Amino acid sequence: MIDSYKNDVKWSESNRRRIDSIIQKARNDKRIDQKINNLHEEVFEEVDCLKCANCCETTGPLLTSMDIGRLSKNLKIAEKVFVKQFLRTDEDGDFVFKTMPCPFLGEDNYCTVYEDRPKACRAFPHTDQKGQMNIMHLTRKNAKVCPAVSKIFQQLDKI
Ligand code: SF4
Ligand code: SF4
Repeated sequence: MIDSYKNDVKWSESNRRRIDSIIQKARNDKRIDQKINNLHEEVFEEVDCLKCANCCETTGPLLTSMDIGRLSKNLKIAEKVFVKQFLRTDEDGDFVFKTMPCPFLGEDNYCTVYEDRPKACRAFPHTDQKGQMNIMHLTRKNAKVCPAVSKIFQQLDKI
């Protein structure tokens, strides 16, 4: 991750109270979805995931049975073999990658299974979705992983 993105993530770590007060203010804002969705578009015009890959290095997705089917087909191995080789279950019983960084994170931060990547990878960091307040507890956490989410909070603080 390039230094400026590291600084964004650090901002989120050292401004937890500020983020909480931004979230508190957002609770009464009827236009919060539109604001966050617009900021998502703006921020991702600048942020280059290929200069970051922090989500693929540190967090990783939950994998659905559809994801497992698609990825094992891509790798031309049986689903059982895929599960044994790459996955474990977390404390909630969901499938996650056994090791981090993600085994499919390639050199130069490219995803080597991009076309068949898990649904959760496609959706991360979820700031382009509706119902932002319903997932705000996750967005709050993601601000410590994703510089784009941190930038969204920093911008929200100004408007
Ligand atoms: S599957 Fe691809 S996009 Fe998903 S965590 Fe791994 S490298 Fe990242
Ligand atoms: S989604 Fe966020 S954490 Fe993941 S690579 Fe892009 S900027 Fe980095």
